[in-house]
Amino acid sequence: MDEREIRLVYMSNNSTPCQQGRAWIEIDLDALAHNIADIRSKIPKSTGIMAVVKANAYGHGVEKVAERMICEGVKAFAVTSVVEGVQLREVAPDSTILVMGYTHPGDARWLYECNLSQLVVDDIYAKALNDTGYNLRVHVAIDTGMNRLGVESSNFEEVEKVFKYADLTVEGIATHLSSPDGQNDSDTGVTRMQIESFMTVVCRLKEKGYNVGKLHAMSSYGIFNYPEFNYDYVRPGIMLYGVHSIDDKTKVKTELRPVLSLKAIVAQVRRIKAGESVSYGRTFTAEKPMKIATVSIGYADGFPRQISGNGGMGIVNGIKAPVVGRVCMDMIMLDVTAIEQIKAGDTVTLIGKDGNEEIRCEEVAKTAGTITNDILSGLSSRLPRIYR
Ligand SMILES: *Cc1c(COP(=O)(O)O)cnc(C)c1O
Repeated sequence: MDEREIRLVYMSNNSTPCQQGRAWIEIDLDALAHNIADIRSKIPKSTGIMAVVKANAYGHGVEKVAERMICEGVKAFAVTSVVEGVQLREVAPDSTILVMGYTHPGDARWLYECNLSQLVVDDIYAKALNDTGYNLRVHVAIDTGMNRLGVESSNFEEVEKVFKYADLTVEGIATHLSSPDGQNDSDTGVTRMQIESFMTVVCRLKEKGYNVGKLHAMSSYGIFNYPEFNYDYVRPGIMLYGVHSIDDKTKVKTELRPVLSLKAIVAQVRRIKAGESVSYGRTFTAEKPMKIATVSIGYADGFPRQISGNGGMGIVNGIKAPVVGRVCMDMIMLDVTAIEQIKAGDTVTLIGKDGNEEIRCEEVAKTAGTITNDILSGLSSRLPRIYR
């Protein structure tokens, strides 16, 4: 390759000519296919999967992920922004694509041109879309207690208004649960109230002769905790990618495989003496002589800074090693005193398997005090995605 070709390779897929570079993500598309099959096996045949691929498919890279999902028979997708919708349309020419987040009415042309469906949250917004003059497909959001987006389920007149705009075609009606993961009486009580409010609105609309289109309500936890309420579409996000939000159990057992691994390289190995400290702020001080590996990944890559001092791990050559000192923007340091065979250039696994060891995304999220959805969607565009 000449210099210009090399530059083009660098820029086109954000990877070096040697592919992985300093830190990277590996995506197991067969695991994705397995997870789709697992979800399908637990929902009725008549229920479709509307795959939630917002935030670059939770960090997995939306293009390859959507392509594979289409091969596996997925026909509908949900994204958050009109830009995500336009990008997805390139690889999903025939799919239903629902934009669930806010679209400025000034961008209605893109909804129209790319044949995207827009979630409508109230009458004011429906009117604004209608007044753009574009004939648009919409789904109506009903707020049943999440208090985030949607017409309040108690306000039937407003729901009805949204159905009456000449330039809006209502293709579906949706709600979103606040606590589908919780299985105590309080959470299941709230969830059942939400479902009841949703169904009351749907029934009244049907009674009055409206075509409500497709019904959908269930995100990942809803699918596995309330298998009796799946409707026309389910909207799984996190579980398509093979993980739970936290390390917990669902009523119907999931049989998911993690799709994503996160890896980086040992940039340098050094020995330090007792009393020496590691990284910014000297929050870690060695009590005995130690061997330290500097690894080429940091919080700018999406490896959470919050794990500093809380017990994060990396796996090197099949052995787990604790993160010591603060996570830097582009690097972390591992205590590799116990690992005899280690040198610069070795691969470090931050999420995924190496030999007999595994670090699950749920563990990283817990250590960082958050959920896997946050960790995965926060993985930076600086990391090349490598697909298997
Ligand atoms: C993000 C999102 C989902 C997917 O949620 P998961 O918990 O990741 O399965 C479904 N529906 C709506 C409205 C969402 O915002």
